[in-house]
Amino acid sequence: MAIEFECDSCGSNARYVGRPAVYALDGIEFLCEPVTAYSRPAWCYKCNTLVDAEQLMGANFYAQQLDAFRRSGLSEHDREFIALTNRAEPQYRKSISDAWKIVLSAARVRLSKPRCFTCGSIEISYIPEYDLESHDILSFPHPNCSGSFVRVANSFINIALLYLDGEGRRKIATEHLKD
Ligand SMILES: [Zn+2]
Ligand SMILES: [Zn+2]
Repeated sequence: MAIEFECDSCGSNARYVGRPAVYALDGIEFLCEPVTAYSRPAWCYKCNTLVDAEQLMGANFYAQQLDAFRRSGLSEHDREFIALTNRAEPQYRKSISDAWKIVLSAARVRLSKPRCFTCGSIEISYIPEYDLESHDILSFPHPNCSGSFVRVANSFINIALLYLDGEGRRKIATEHLKD
């Protein structure tokens, strides 16, 4: 979904689009939950507009997820995925826990700050009024302007999946997808 904003002072427009993104890391066999790149709305000073930007979860998050996956049974989603990909359950469990291990290793060695999904810049600041619960933004200050961006409309658009490396840089799509 896209959210359209208009500045109440200068009249300029901005649009927030939540971009689906994954970390396409070596050794990960297929797209699965562990590789999801989390994001949140931010102002990018290079793009000079509202963007979707990486939200780094940190190594502890991935360690906990791996631990939880090892302890838990398979979810409904996992079972659907197994059916969809024709995999045996043990093979599926191994693939997913290997994927968690790979993203955990990448998180441990991550050097870069979170990046703008559009241009890769780290010169971003998250929109402070972003409400994590509702995923709604109502208004936020327009940087370098006296006004505020006010939400004026919602719209629906289709947007392609982004593939990122371990430092959050965009990769060419599909090069690491073997399935
Ligand atoms: Zn303005
Ligand atoms: Zn940018």
